Amino acid sequence: MSRTLAEVAVEASGCTRCRLAQGRTQVVFGVGDPDAQLMFIGEGPGFHEDKQGEPFVGAAGQLLNRMLGEIGLAREQVYIGNVVKCRPPGNRDPQADEIEACTPWLIEQLSLIQPRVIVTLGNFATKFVLQTETGITRLRGQVHEWHGRTVIPTFHPAAILHGGGEKSRQFQLLLEDFLLVRRTLDAPMQPVVAGVPPGLIAVPEAEPVVAEPDPDQMELF
Ligand code: URA
Repeated sequence: MSRTLAEVAVEASGCTRCRLAQGRTQVVFGVGDPDAQLMFIGEGPGFHEDKQGEPFVGAAGQLLNRMLGEIGLAREQVYIGNVVKCRPPGNRDPQADEIEACTPWLIEQLSLIQPRVIVTLGNFATKFVLQTETGITRLRGQVHEWHGRTVIPTFHPAAILHGGGEKSRQFQLLLEDFLLVRRTLDAPMQPVVAGVPPGLIAVPEAEPVVAEPDPDQMELF
């Protein structure tokens, strides 16, 4: 019989699979509804997350909460996790071997939660999940099929805060992406539509989604 998410979290709390264990205050496993339809994946805990043991509790988390509110969701109704569960020193990028060591925890989270929709926050989580070198600016604004689920990449909230905040174009695009998340959750399970390039599934749009031009996609048509 498979373990519960809470049981996995207890095991993860003592994890020493990589060097990040040495500098952390605690493992930041994840938070939210273990049966959530919607899961967010960020990069890794920062200063506040490391202290409090919960992902996205700092300024980026406040923006995430606000965006959730815009689509009628509370934090408790979704699941929030990160690619790596321990804070990299000085908030540096996680290294390849650290990610590799941490990946089984994320896979176990995904297989226990079974989210229908996964939102990857920022370049890092998006590259990790979709295994692509394509940047977030080109990948956001559309849905991607991934192992029978829908992945919606969007900007990392911290990038919005560092790049002009509410007045920036990216802020509007972040909001658009959250509205896409809402429509995707509201839509019945989507069959793959003939003519849609592999890797993309169609989601009915309540309003037009302005996607950045994506040269790779253009080539497919
Ligand atoms: N940024 C992340 O990617 N994850 C967090 O938990 C907090 C900030």
